[in-house]
Amino acid sequence: MYDLNRDIKSLNLDELTAVIKEMGEPAFRAKQLYQWMHVKMARSYDEMTNIPASLKSKLMENFDFTSLKQVDLQESKLDETKKFLFALSDGNVIESVFMKYKFGVSVCISSQVGCRMGCKFCASTIDGVVRGLLPSEMLDQIYAISRITGEKVARVVVMGSGEPLDNYDNVVKFVRLLSDPNGHNLGQRNLTISTCGIVPNIYKLADEDFAINLALSLHASNDEKRKELMPIANTYTIKEVLDACRAYFDKTGRQLTFEYSLVSGVNDTDKDAAELSDLLKGLNAVVNLIPVNPIKERTFKPTDRKGAEQFKNKLEKSHINVTIRREMGRDIDGACGQLRRRHLEEK
Ligand code: SAH
Repeated sequence: MYDLNRDIKSLNLDELTAVIKEMGEPAFRAKQLYQWMHVKMARSYDEMTNIPASLKSKLMENFDFTSLKQVDLQESKLDETKKFLFALSDGNVIESVFMKYKFGVSVCISSQVGCRMGCKFCASTIDGVVRGLLPSEMLDQIYAISRITGEKVARVVVMGSGEPLDNYDNVVKFVRLLSDPNGHNLGQRNLTISTCGIVPNIYKLADEDFAINLALSLHASNDEKRKELMPIANTYTIKEVLDACRAYFDKTGRQLTFEYSLVSGVNDTDKDAAELSDLLKGLNAVVNLIPVNPIKERTFKPTDRKGAEQFKNKLEKSHINVTIRREMGRDIDGACGQLRRRHLEEK
């Protein structure tokens, strides 16, 4: 009998159809509901004009309809980046980012409220994790931004607050829902999941038969340095992480991205570039360099533009594909979790 954790927007079409049938309604109602939620991105049952009132009240009695409330918006003056702070139904706040590129709009979403991974340069993790987001709450970030801006979302990156592979089941269900041809139908190739490297779950993800992109937050060229920046490095060695990435590539054929936040004097030396080149040799990968975004709780300083270019050149000499990420929205608390933290502090 119903329940399915009472979260209607996290149900796939089969689950929804079963519920609707159990309610004694014709199956086509499930498809209508599913389209209202995932194609028309309705904010509530009220908007569903072709659903009978009797069914709506039955649904309302038995299921919650998640929705986000916009509590803050920061718009960059440097580019068209917009950073949204949303309140969830339980009052927790999360942030999501809208970025406009030549290819179209990309949305960066959070996968958890806070994070428990403890990366030293990251603002999202300072107060730990509160909870993982539901599939519906991850979808809601995309749907809300799409509605508010009136733009079609071409790409989604799960690179906001939280560790997606620490909220594995919900993230996998989110991927299935977002890419469902009966629903929002975002191509899996346009979806990227970024992880600090929870090795067993990278293997698991490789077995899901997805075509999504994997980004690995590497940030160091040897285990000693990685341990200083990322506590997860105490659990898995770089070799174990890279083996998992290689397996992901072998299974899916999707190109890998390695994220490397450049911290001045910590991981941006010539020796780092040489070690990194050795590590990544032969991998079908792109290295994404991003000068670390300083957060006020820490003393890390970003590598300057010239240093980043030099680091890039050194990798390129070893035939590694490298990009320096455009620092979108730097003027608006661009780094992970900074807007949310500011909000929590003000309260
Ligand atoms: N937990 C996931 C996804 C969220 S973080 C992960 O670790 O990949 C998204 C990316 O931003 C990661 O590469 C993360 O290491 C990086 N990041 C976090 N804070 C940053 C900061 N202040 N400056 C630069 N990069 C940062």
